[in-house]
Amino acid sequence: KRVADRYLKREVLGEGTYGVVFKAIDTKANRLITGQTVAIKKIRLGQYKEGVNFTALREIKLLKELKDPNIIELIDAFPHKGNLHLVFEFMESDLEAVIRDRNIVLSPADTKSYLQMTLKGLAYCHKKWVVHRDMKPNNLLIASDGQLKLADFGLARIFGSPDRKFTHQVFARWYRAPELLYGSKQYGAGVDVWAAGCIFAELLLRRPFLQGSSDIDQLGKIFAALGTPKPSQWPDMVYLPDYVEYQYVPVPPLRTLFPTASDDALDLLSKMFIYDPKARITVQQALEHRYFSSVPAPTKPSLLPRPP
Ligand code: ADP
Repeated sequence: KRVADRYLKREVLGEGTYGVVFKAIDTKANRLITGQTVAIKKIRLGQYKEGVNFTALREIKLLKELKDPNIIELIDAFPHKGNLHLVFEFMESDLEAVIRDRNIVLSPADTKSYLQMTLKGLAYCHKKWVVHRDMKPNNLLIASDGQLKLADFGLARIFGSPDRKFTHQVFARWYRAPELLYGSKQYGAGVDVWAAGCIFAELLLRRPFLQGSSDIDQLGKIFAALGTPKPSQWPDMVYLPDYVEYQYVPVPPLRTLFPTASDDALDLLSKMFIYDPKARITVQQALEHRYFSSVPAPTKPSLLPRPP
């Protein structure tokens, strides 16, 4: 079946936050390389308020301009039968599959490489004032050459927070920054740094770091692991819409939670987990942290371990 006279529809790849994703062959990809494989994300537009469609299409034009080795390329976008179709380059795997695969050993150099590629993709988007807001390991796709590419950039902002509409998306909560959990509406790039910190921790632990079962429980898990923030540490906290006081937990040493991590890794991680988003390390500063210049050097993407 043809879509928009250009894409040959193949099998369904999965059901995502915003709709179904299917594999397709792009028949007009290139005169030399015929039949490039793509992934098409079909977004049901009906569920969104009127007017959102126009905004969405304008925003999507901006997403098409985002081009970086660590960002998944949005090849095409078009409405078709009441659905918005977003065409992306096809990816072999994702970071969640890598972390979950018990046959894969991740060396400190491999972890460093995956984190560096994640931060490079984020740095590019933050420079263009685009915040991801929905970072999680299954949004970090892995290309056949080993490059990690951020997916779903800007979609959360265009189509709204997935958590509110789809209950199956519970795991996105585990990567949510405390300011979002406290209902902040003026959040910034810091939410992506927090999520990247959670992903860094997950690479080190080989399991999700903070697995809350509700937003309240998520904050409880964060505070139990990292200590309850004092208003002096994060002055804006008490003014956030959903602020509630939690029972005081002193700051436990991060070292006890990550016994095998290097001192440099722990120092960077602690700076990504600073409560006050204004004081939290930026993506650019994180990339300049000595963790990335000290040994071991990050593994070359083509040499990274991947699922079969
Ligand atoms: P979610 O919203 O839960 O992050 P997505 O909508 O991104 O999920 O993706 C749904 C499914 O489609 C996933 O199983 C994912 O592996 C697959 N998928 C998404 N994008 C691509 C892509 N570019 N290439 C290959 N598979 C993809």
